[in-house]
Amino acid sequence: MELCDLTLHEIKDLFVKKEVLPSMVLASVVRRIREVEESLGAYLALDLEAAFAAAQAADGRIKEGKALGVLDGIPVAIKDNLCQAGKETTCASRILQGFVPPYTATAVQKLLDQGALILGRTNMDEFAMGSSTENSAVKPTRNPWDPRWVPGGSSGGSAVAVAAGEAIAALGSDTGGSIRQPAAFCGVTGLKPTYGLVSRYGLVAFASSFDQIGPITKDAEDCALLLSAIAGFDPLDSTSVQGEAVDYTKDLERELTGRTLGLPREYFGEGLDDEVRRIIMAAVAQLEELGARIVELSLKLTEYALPVYYLISSAEASSNLARYDGIRYGRAVAGREDLATYYTRTRSEGFGPEVKRRIMLGTYALSAGYYEAYYQKAQQVRTLICREFEEAFRAVDAIVTPTSPTLPFRAGERLTDPLAMYLSDVCTVPVNIAGLPALSVPCGFAQGAPVGMQIIGRPFAEAAILQIAHQYQKVTAFHRARPYGAGRGGQDGL
Ligand code: GLN
Repeated sequence: MELCDLTLHEIKDLFVKKEVLPSMVLASVVRRIREVEESLGAYLALDLEAAFAAAQAADGRIKEGKALGVLDGIPVAIKDNLCQAGKETTCASRILQGFVPPYTATAVQKLLDQGALILGRTNMDEFAMGSSTENSAVKPTRNPWDPRWVPGGSSGGSAVAVAAGEAIAALGSDTGGSIRQPAAFCGVTGLKPTYGLVSRYGLVAFASSFDQIGPITKDAEDCALLLSAIAGFDPLDSTSVQGEAVDYTKDLERELTGRTLGLPREYFGEGLDDEVRRIIMAAVAQLEELGARIVELSLKLTEYALPVYYLISSAEASSNLARYDGIRYGRAVAGREDLATYYTRTRSEGFGPEVKRRIMLGTYALSAGYYEAYYQKAQQVRTLICREFEEAFRAVDAIVTPTSPTLPFRAGERLTDPLAMYLSDVCTVPVNIAGLPALSVPCGFAQGAPVGMQIIGRPFAEAAILQIAHQYQKVTAFHRARPYGAGRGGQDGL
């Protein structure tokens, strides 16, 4: 196995034993990037010179046993909607071409403070709107398990980088599923934290009441390590929650006996692919064998989640994206006849079709006469959905569902059908509506494609869902399968 195919915790152990140095890991990752990046397109920009310089400094610290933290010397990729001072940040949009932020996102700064090596910036759907990474204005990203399939989205570049060994771990953002769904499609582990746990300072806003930054890694243990590094109160984000720093690895080894897991009927009904259902049910049986008690439950409002999400998130997007007028950020168009024409031309040329669709939908939902019928109604249903989850969590410790109702779909297949694309998110958006934590873990393969299981927790119960995922991964091998290097071993579990 190549170093680039190892997990963060495996590499950290090799560092501690002084068997491997950061520059060796980086060299392995860069070799893999050279081999596969052209066909996968995970990155928008690589920053290897800076990474090599940082690796040398980390080598010195590791040799002396003076690591800055668990991330010291670990090559990490970040999604292109996370600002890093001095590095062009485009959100894969033409309108932000040339935008170089003067400051660094808190989550990214925390990685840097712990000595992580930032490899570069990963591809995404434009402004994180999409489920396939095909809405990038630059290029589509391909699934490493089969380049004919999409990798999921919008954090497709980050998920592919981790799955393919082009990074050891990555950060993504999740507004309606953008960490979990690509994690599922690429066979990696991805976690969306509780709203407010990770600072959004320096994350380019899409829908501010849903957006969260989170880790994409090769297993739950790595997820816990990365989450511990980025979580915590930040005075620069007014929605960030006060609280003590938590070590999310501390409960990983606890057994599942006594945990009650709920299966919501509505997530297993019509529209769920038969193979996905079979694989999720096998994973649930495995959890039961590990001592968890499985109960059925009903979340009756599930059918309203998708419309509620698309109404509110588009409304927030239309307002957040109003700032891109060509004057303060990014690209300017030629000719400045008058201000209105200038704005119109900048925005018409700068935004892609999906972003325009969301701005129009959102502006409509917020406009006088429609506000009460659409936006306000959606907010009321949002409250009901939150309450329904609260009620469910009185009886169960966590909720288990598929992450995506289907296997990875073919590139191009849903591009001309926005509704079909939006349906990819049916299982993930309810979690963002209620602000809950949830993760996706690899739990099987069908037709050579990875399948992900979603585990949803109570607010701030990240430690509990990571524990469930880790206990599951201790008795299965799906998370150890790699599309390159190690061959495709592990596809059948243990
Ligand atoms: N696919 C969903 C959307 O297009 C979610 C995106 C996300 O989580 N950023 O809005």
